[in-house]
Amino acid sequence: MTLATSRPQLAHLSATLDELRAKGTHFKLRILDDQQAPVCHYDGRQVVNLASNNYLGLANHPKLIEAAIAATRAFGVGSGAVRTIAGTMRIHMDLEERIARFKNVEACVVFQSGFTANAGTVSSILGKEDYILSDELNHASIIDGARLSRATIKVFRHKDMAHCEQLLQELAPSPGHKLVITDGVFSMDGDIGPVDKLSALAEKYGAIMMVDDAHASGVLGRNGRGSVDHFGVHGKVDVQVGTLSKAIGALGGYVCGSRDLIDYLYHRARPFLFSTSHPPSVAATCIAAFDILENEPERIDRLWSNTRYFQGELKRIGFNIGGVTTPATETPITPIIIGDGRVAMEFSRALFYEGVMATGIAFPTVPEGKARIRAILTSEHTRAHLDQALETMERTAKRMGILG
Ligand SMILES: *Cc1c(COP(=O)(O)O)cnc(C)c1O
Repeated sequence: MTLATSRPQLAHLSATLDELRAKGTHFKLRILDDQQAPVCHYDGRQVVNLASNNYLGLANHPKLIEAAIAATRAFGVGSGAVRTIAGTMRIHMDLEERIARFKNVEACVVFQSGFTANAGTVSSILGKEDYILSDELNHASIIDGARLSRATIKVFRHKDMAHCEQLLQELAPSPGHKLVITDGVFSMDGDIGPVDKLSALAEKYGAIMMVDDAHASGVLGRNGRGSVDHFGVHGKVDVQVGTLSKAIGALGGYVCGSRDLIDYLYHRARPFLFSTSHPPSVAATCIAAFDILENEPERIDRLWSNTRYFQGELKRIGFNIGGVTTPATETPITPIIIGDGRVAMEFSRALFYEGVMATGIAFPTVPEGKARIRAILTSEHTRAHLDQALETMERTAKRMGILG
């Protein structure tokens, strides 16, 4: 049997890939040979890993590994059905109750990923008579959910409260429901969404308030409770989304809110209704992770202390880590602004061969001319790891003419 290659039906895809190669932004997947750890091996090469979202080192925490193994032995490897048919296991309910207790809300529903949590929620709580007011830098899963809802989408300039209020005023006479939605932490620049100010605006205009805390879960707020806790706006945010895939170390997404919101999503959110639930091992892992957030707060302290040190040193060396023509980071997400897409990708590649893994990010993920590499700190990096990365970044940037 021959492999089906190069049929003319897909020639337009090959043409697009050729364009990416010509622009220098085509990439190959880097393959992790061992564990998601501060020093690990990609493509057979040892690197200081500044590319993962494993903020607290939970992806390989021994207690989480034990929890996954025990649940697999007790309950098997798969749930066998979607939640609404036969695939709701006791451990799924235990996880939802654990999260609701942690977040101090009435109820919680877990989805297969943060992506499906956002897309499934936004698309099901609004319809075509309704309006979505969305920050221009919100995550793709919010944008897709907004499109699927068929509501009218109004995009406000990044964190521009006056612009958001102007849109709310213009929409005031329209009868539809309005949803104000923001990321709790923006994934490309690392700045924090103004959840306090936006929820006050939403309140003033009777709009629903929703926040996507993917990068805030386990990072912001007491014990990593997220942006609502960070700003002390408990009870002012109707829909809180979080992820179990980043700081929590496993996989999944969740929505927290009122009992009726969650019951409604059980009945209407399409990824919940039409896609199989988590393996029991994942649910058990996540339950153990929330115990760690409460019992090992020193991980979060180390994360923030590494963040302060690394970002301070980058500035001292002379890197642009945002704050002038791009937002200033306020979290462990550290953009190092390069400008030109090709140079950013080449810098990332050169760093990799020198032993530092930091993702290159170019248009269309970030605006044209704002290409960057992105470094993410974790609690598990040691000072020595960070110093090695800083020395490599300075030396490589000077050799490439990125730093004078
Ligand atoms: C990563 C991310 C998601 C998606 O979460 P997954 O659990 O990886 O699907 C959603 N929103 C934001 C802002 C993210 O950064």
